[in-house]
Amino acid sequence: MTLFTVHAVPVLEDNYVWLLQANGSQSVIVIDPGDAEPVIAFIRQQNLVPVAILVTHHHYDHVDGIQPFLAQYPVPIFGPDGESIPGMTQPLSATDNLSIHADFPDCQVIAVPGHTHGHIAYKINDCLFCGDTLFAAGCGRLLGGTHAQLLASLKDISTLPLETKIYCAHEYTVANLKFARTVEPNNIETQQRLRHVTQLRAQGHITLPSTLALELTTNPFLRCHEPAVIKAVEQHVSQRLSDELAVFTALRQWKDSF
Ligand SMILES: [Zn+2]
Repeated sequence: MTLFTVHAVPVLEDNYVWLLQANGSQSVIVIDPGDAEPVIAFIRQQNLVPVAILVTHHHYDHVDGIQPFLAQYPVPIFGPDGESIPGMTQPLSATDNLSIHADFPDCQVIAVPGHTHGHIAYKINDCLFCGDTLFAAGCGRLLGGTHAQLLASLKDISTLPLETKIYCAHEYTVANLKFARTVEPNNIETQQRLRHVTQLRAQGHITLPSTLALELTTNPFLRCHEPAVIKAVEQHVSQRLSDELAVFTALRQWKDSF
């Protein structure tokens, strides 16, 4: 049951800032404000009242809006305790029941290192806000953590309920699916999804949120145990790969140069 509405505010090149508005209320939680001005404009236009900022990791396109936002709206800043977040008041590690504000359900904080060493994700009811860890049909690059950490984080996310909605922080879906199609050219779901999101983008629509069920069938980074993915990656690197981590590592490197 979702007791809030999620708004997307596009910022910078291809980032989304997610705003959670409690139903029947003007209270809003802001996630990963990489820029302040478009977020503040949306909040004013909709007459919203910010109550907190949640941050997944320290990269500029997730935090650069915090200080200018704070000048207008002094709210608590939640973020990963292992990373340097401007204005952070509530450093977090993994927990099952974080209370953010009385108007919102409790939140689960999940440690998902890999893209960065301290990256965290927030699960509120059936919505997962996972920053740059899991993307629609892709995953984040390695910018501080290890391949083993990122694979373990993606596996943790894979154990969540299938209907979990995936709110990642970038609009990378079309490019990711073109890579996914290269890895798995015979995956019908991938082909269908690519057609669908290409149409959405042509009409100026957002491709998010995704669902975990859809990611498990079309995201190659969640499928490194599938024979078709193993075979494609082994062919790409012209060698046998000993285990899932070796497949994941080679797949991530393949995507880096795709
Ligand atoms: Zn990042």
